Amino acid sequence: LQERVEAKNLHLLLELGDVPGTLLGDPTRLRQAVLNYATNAVKFTEQGEVTLQAFLESDTSAGVLIKFEVTDSGIGISEEVQGRLFQAFTQADSSTTRKYGGTGLGLAISKQLVELMGGQVGLRSRPGEGTTFWCTALFQKQTVCQPAIVPSAELSGRRILIVDDNESNRTILHHLVSGWGMHDGQARN
Ligand code: ADP
Repeated sequence: LQERVEAKNLHLLLELGDVPGTLLGDPTRLRQAVLNYATNAVKFTEQGEVTLQAFLESDTSAGVLIKFEVTDSGIGISEEVQGRLFQAFTQADSSTTRKYGGTGLGLAISKQLVELMGGQVGLRSRPGEGTTFWCTALFQKQTVCQPAIVPSAELSGRRILIVDDNESNRTILHHLVSGWGMHDGQARN
């Protein structure tokens, strides 16, 4: 987005709430849904800023519900069309295609993706002031298994036996453990 934002002299802001760092979900679809909002926000804004936000909405046994909001200071959307914009091939009015192009499909795709991720979509807008499009998505908590990390100072000077039927693996491991100051007794070459 950065390139389009700079070309229009807009500000792109990112605000992250109290969102867990590691979650299990579908990053590709999530990116597609949020990026679609953000691309529209830049497209329909001539000055000011576009803000991307993420908040923790709820944390229950069903999963972690995160809310994503994209707010712009653009042209806004009148109340009578707000309700139908998530339908396929719908644009705010007939002048939109002439002025901005587009297909009216992006929001319908975002809605479907988000609903498949257990979430919902919506918007708030005031014509002439700007728009906020939001979506939620459900994620599972990820329990991360950290590999045991032993400080190399504790390993330095120790002996180690490397066992692997692949010579390249043995060589790689030899170099790795030698770097930690360990002795594996392998012939150096
Ligand atoms: P497209 O952008 O290809 O027309 P979308 O489904 O993404 O299709 O958007 C549908 C319509 O919703 C747009 O044509 C525009 O009229 C309106 N719209 C979407 N996002 C915004 C926004 N941030 N500000 C104003 N209007 C918007």
